[in-house]
Amino acid sequence: MKTIVKKIADNFGNQNQEIITAGKIIKEGGLVAFPTETVYGLGADALNPTASRKIYAAKGRPSDNPLIIHIADIKDLENIALHIPVNARQLAEKFWPGPLTMIFEKREIVPKETTGGLDTVAVRMPAHPVALGLIRAAGGYIAAPSANTSGKPSPTLAEHVAQDLNGRIPMILDGGAVQIGIESTIVDFSGEIPMILRPGYITLDMIQKVIGEIQMDPGLGMEDPSAPPKAPGMKYKHYAPKAELILIDGEQDKVQKKINHLLKEAIISGKTPGVIGTKESCNGYRWGIVKSIGTRSDEDTIARHLYQILREFDQQNVDVIYSESFSTPGLGQAVMNRMLKAAGHQVIKV
Ligand code: AMP
Ligand code: MG
Repeated sequence: MKTIVKKIADNFGNQNQEIITAGKIIKEGGLVAFPTETVYGLGADALNPTASRKIYAAKGRPSDNPLIIHIADIKDLENIALHIPVNARQLAEKFWPGPLTMIFEKREIVPKETTGGLDTVAVRMPAHPVALGLIRAAGGYIAAPSANTSGKPSPTLAEHVAQDLNGRIPMILDGGAVQIGIESTIVDFSGEIPMILRPGYITLDMIQKVIGEIQMDPGLGMEDPSAPPKAPGMKYKHYAPKAELILIDGEQDKVQKKINHLLKEAIISGKTPGVIGTKESCNGYRWGIVKSIGTRSDEDTIARHLYQILREFDQQNVDVIYSESFSTPGLGQAVMNRMLKAAGHQVIKV
């Protein structure tokens, strides 16, 4: 299959021909990759079981890992979800369109092929204009996981999608670099107390301010990596680069000293090492391929560049990556959740 890549200009109009064509592909049961504000998604008609199955095949995704349904109007939530509590409506009012996914009991119309066999459905209204245009052109309900091969870092550029899925899908809409760079926050409303199943750009604190009571899934493994997570997708080794990734955690000057020592040892043993540092620290590394992920004075920059950096290291055939850790109070929880998984929980405390 030939994959067509179409660039969508920032000022695209209501009747954009590429988006109309992409919507038609989805309506006819095909797949299209498209930009959202979090990461690129791989979309199919969420109400068509055959189309959803194609997503699993293209990504090599385990069939028990459910898909998120993307909508373009809040009122469409009623058509796919049951028992939507008042606090979920408050979160939708506050954070939609945006990087928040909510889980409810599903309606009959949603096939189990889309929900990985579950009776619940995950729903999000994305904030990217191309995503919203495509959802409307495709009939209102697009099932979309991240548009990467299963196990690889999520795509934050159209080029990343092509690296993984070229020849496997008919079309990629290129909307340039995404804004946020890590996947949406997932909140489960199907239990008694709302629970965060995946941390993201919308933090626990931001949610608490709107609805009060909210829990973090203890199975996220931030403390104990052996506890099972509630979101099926969170149990898989995700986001992983080809190289071994090791996080170094502690005071900044000790971290730098330790990483320099590890770099020297790696080079002596014939390996090609890499470093993930920041604008503030990169000058202090003396060996290896050193990359700045962003600046500690703006944690958004760190989230935005994480997956891109992991992919770049893959292309440079690095054997081992030493990274500073980024457990800041806000977005840091979401960033560290991804980094710990990519590192298989290998952390050196200094
Ligand atoms: P992705 O779109 O690739 O970011 O993956 C979607 C994430 O949402 C995975 O971690 C899924 O396990 C999770 N998810 C989707 N639907 C549900 C659901 N009904 N219940 C629990 N987790 C879900
Ligand atoms: Mg994913």
